[in-house]
Amino acid sequence: MARITFGGVSGFPTAGLDHRVKVFFPLPGEERPVYPTGDDWWERWQTEPVRAVFRTYTIRRHRPEIGEVDIDFVLHGDSGPASSWALRAKPGDEVGLWGPKAEFDPPSGVDWMLLAGDETALPAIGALVEALPSDAKARVFVEVDSAAEEQAFVLPPEVRVAWLHRDKGQSLVAAVDEARLPEGRPYAWIAGEAGSVRALRRVLIGKRGVAKEDIYFSGYWRRGRSG
Ligand SMILES: Cc1cc2nc3c(=O)[nH]c(=O)nc-3n(C[C@H](O)[C@H](O)[C@H](O)COP(=O)(O)OP(=O)(O)OC[C@H]3O[C@@H](n4cnc5c(N)ncnc54)[C@H](O)[C@@H]3O)c2cc1C
Repeated sequence: MARITFGGVSGFPTAGLDHRVKVFFPLPGEERPVYPTGDDWWERWQTEPVRAVFRTYTIRRHRPEIGEVDIDFVLHGDSGPASSWALRAKPGDEVGLWGPKAEFDPPSGVDWMLLAGDETALPAIGALVEALPSDAKARVFVEVDSAAEEQAFVLPPEVRVAWLHRDKGQSLVAAVDEARLPEGRPYAWIAGEAGSVRALRRVLIGKRGVAKEDIYFSGYWRRGRSG
């Protein structure tokens, strides 16, 4: 994971906790990315002969008073424009940011929260747990490669984080399937690799008795598929 700080974003709105942005990267030969702006950028982007390249990322921290945001990039190798860019990023490099918008929106009346995801969801999970009130009750499950990828958070007493290490054969799905969970109605927020998110949602509904409408789920990336 590489935490990259972007300056020059004064006036950037704060959308919520799992704020996501589109990050536009320079095409080969471009020093700075050329990308469509305005509310109808998506329609125009689809018909452009040379399309600007973007991927979706989470604002890990926003410091509006100095016009800075931090984005944590998973460095999964040279196989995609975002990871390749982040591997080589140096001070002064430019990207374009479009957004943000947020989707974390628990209904009223829930007793506790279940947050689960892989390292691509860790920036959102980090921002979410750091913003929880001191009396919040939550169970957090994060799957990463190994213990070296763990991050430290200051947490309210009733918020517990379980780190699952792929190098030890641990997984989100098995951990949530087997965990002792609090009583009462949860709100579940799950994100990460699409197949794993789908399997986790099935476990939550089928085995853990969580109501469909109390689950937010999002495939943040798909194994073997670009973009
Ligand atoms: C709402 C939202 C928020 C997100 N927030 C973050 C974030 O804060 N940080 C972050 O790192 N990612 C985040 N992601 C995921 C990120 O957008 C994807 O991982 C994206 O595919 C990376 O683009 P790329 O150009 O590196 O690779 P792509 O060109 O998209 O893919 C190339 C290859 O790499 C594989 N691949 C893609 N991502 C990964 C990965 N993480 N691990 C292993 N293989 C991978 C693909 O399956 C494909 O085979 C978020 C996604 C969404 C939808």
